[in-house]
Amino acid sequence: MSQMAKRDYYEVLGVSRDATPDEIKKAYRRLALQYHPDRNPGDKTAEEKFKEIGEAYEVLSDPEKRAAYDRYGHAAFDPRARVGAHTYGPFHDPFEIFREVFGSGLDGIFEDIFGAGRYDPTRPQPGEDIRYDLEISFEEAARGCEKEITIQRLETCTECRGSGAEPGARLRPCAACAGHGQIRRTLGGFINIAETCPRCGGAGRTVDRLCRACRGEGRQMRSGKVKLKIPAGVDTGTRLRLPGNGQCGLRGGPPGDLYVVIHVKPHEIFQRDGDDLVCEVPISFVQAALGAEIEIPTLDGKATIHVPPGTQPGTVFRLKGKGIKSLHGHGAGDLLVRVKLEVPTHLNAAQKAKLQEFAALCDERVHPLARSFFEKAKRLFK
Ligand SMILES: [Zn+2]
Ligand SMILES: [Zn+2]
Repeated sequence: MSQMAKRDYYEVLGVSRDATPDEIKKAYRRLALQYHPDRNPGDKTAEEKFKEIGEAYEVLSDPEKRAAYDRYGHAAFDPRARVGAHTYGPFHDPFEIFREVFGSGLDGIFEDIFGAGRYDPTRPQPGEDIRYDLEISFEEAARGCEKEITIQRLETCTECRGSGAEPGARLRPCAACAGHGQIRRTLGGFINIAETCPRCGGAGRTVDRLCRACRGEGRQMRSGKVKLKIPAGVDTGTRLRLPGNGQCGLRGGPPGDLYVVIHVKPHEIFQRDGDDLVCEVPISFVQAALGAEIEIPTLDGKATIHVPPGTQPGTVFRLKGKGIKSLHGHGAGDLLVRVKLEVPTHLNAAQKAKLQEFAALCDERVHPLARSFFEKAKRLFK
């Protein structure tokens, strides 16, 4: 580590050379929280920054060290330089400085500033959420239903009641950290960092025998049944949240949530357009020409639509409120019945003869659309 490459401590903290102790402390607090490794996991640059900030604060917050720095610069802390009466150093652990400034209520600070989700193996951890994909029928989605599903989830270990210790096990000082809860790691140069002991999770003590049922985790995978009330109007992609039905927490943490994601099977007749139902009904050209009463299915039984004489293909009949009940609020969508014209096929000789007879009787008043079209076409070819 070259002393030449070191940045000016005032510059590091972004303060002027005549900054007051209070200004220096404020600058440190802001930057230390920003670059703390817990907030920037795996970010080497942030880790270096954090050390640099700690070092700058250590010097500038101490009147004696600050005076030495003002006079000799970084050489004041270089054991090889031998300037002044004595040199200072090595520098303290940047985490120690952080703790000094923020006090012992460190966990509270992290909770407030870094938000939830920070991994600390000594504290209760909330359980994870679970996603469950559930396929239901079209009718179930439209009317609502009740379901019982079986899910695999982590539940509190019944053997150790969540403690992770084998019944009768005893607590002993952790062998890895000799009971300190932290281990020190050298990053090179004078810099040591203290880390939570991975063996005991910072508790400083471990049990001599872990629960065999859960291997010390305090939770076990078990299959459990969950009853669901699915409201009318759900559609594919609707997520139902069941609070507290996810994985159980660690060390007394709250359980996660269960999210049930709905998938609706397609219907043979109906399609869905929001809360509206769409249904295509084939009718014969005779029914379309003469008019007819057509019986159609709805979600709650049969209904009849009156097709007036001369109905064209694609005509839509709207049945108010016969659609799907709205998931949010009151009311329901409509049922839209679209008329499809079925052209007769497989005609026998007698049927063909009748149609030819009918065609001979038709004049252009019977087919006004065709008349208008061919008149326009004639003008085009002139
Ligand atoms: Zn257990
Ligand atoms: Zn330990």
